[in-house]
Amino acid sequence: MQGRLLVVGGGPAGVAAATAAAQAGFRVLLAERGCRLGGQLSVAGRAFSRRALWLRWSSWAEAELKARSVEVRLNTAVTAEDCAAWERVVLATGARSAGLSVRSPGRIAVLSAWEAILRPTPLTGSIVVFDGDGEWPALDAAELLATHGLAVYLVTPAETPGHGLRKGERGAYLDRLDALSVRLMPRHDLALCPDGHPAQLRDLAAGRVRPFPLNLGAIVVAAGRISEDHLAAQLRVHPKIRRVGDAVQPRCLEDAITEGTRVVESLRDASSDLS
Ligand SMILES: Cc1cc2nc3c(=O)[nH]c(=O)nc-3n(C[C@H](O)[C@H](O)[C@H](O)COP(=O)(O)OP(=O)(O)OC[C@H]3O[C@@H](n4cnc5c(N)ncnc54)[C@H](O)[C@@H]3O)c2cc1C
Repeated sequence: MQGRLLVVGGGPAGVAAATAAAQAGFRVLLAERGCRLGGQLSVAGRAFSRRALWLRWSSWAEAELKARSVEVRLNTAVTAEDCAAWERVVLATGARSAGLSVRSPGRIAVLSAWEAILRPTPLTGSIVVFDGDGEWPALDAAELLATHGLAVYLVTPAETPGHGLRKGERGAYLDRLDALSVRLMPRHDLALCPDGHPAQLRDLAAGRVRPFPLNLGAIVVAAGRISEDHLAAQLRVHPKIRRVGDAVQPRCLEDAITEGTRVVESLRDASSDLS
């Protein structure tokens, strides 16, 4: 037996770390503050294109954690004090949606792409989805809302929505959005009033403003992802801490799983990576 290990966060990186460490002989406790495992993948799994991946991952995770006798505690938000009792800790606390710098124009709801993906049903009318980061959330939100029958306008200041994604992946999204009649508005920005209320759309190529679509029901904003690093900041003096996945920097599923799986090798050495 290698000793006891606390893994904080039950997203893809935390589950990979917990199962690999248990396989290597550690006695592992995996603590997740939410009511289910999966982290951001559980948000991504609401989108139709990720449904199969989510179902495959979640049944694999459940079976693997059980087979490796990992103790799993849901609804458990770990604090710095909790970590102090553990000799080794893996921080797989992931990332959250960046806060919205856009405020609601009157009665129009402004919400994040994550919120729209998780709760699409109350929305009605035309929806402006603002892709401010070029990642998956805006595209997933646009696809999901269009599938619910809403008129969706996908707006981005970049040349194309999803500009940060691989070409093939972006192409597949754009084909599906086209089939759902999502209207793409590249090189457009939200023209904000000084108080942060979106006033109109700004056509960056033509240099003029346009009104919002008629019957605007909501503005959905994808403003990027931010690492959850509060715990890491409080734990600088802990001897055996490792950070993995989006807790280091928001990236992708593959990086999260690879880092989680490999962390066990470095846990046998003593020094922390937080200094
Ligand atoms: C809508 C969407 C679509 C995406 N689509 C793709 C895609 O197609 N391909 C791809 O490669 N990537 C995609 N990603 C990104 C990918 O999901 C993430 O990179 C990956 O989930 C990161 O894994 P993680 O375990 O590091 O962090 P997370 O998935 O963020 O998991 C971290 C977990 O830690 C928990 N936690 C945080 N603090 C504490 C605490 N103090 N105590 C206990 N638990 C805590 C959180 O509740 C969370 O469950 C997508 C992300 C989103 C939001």
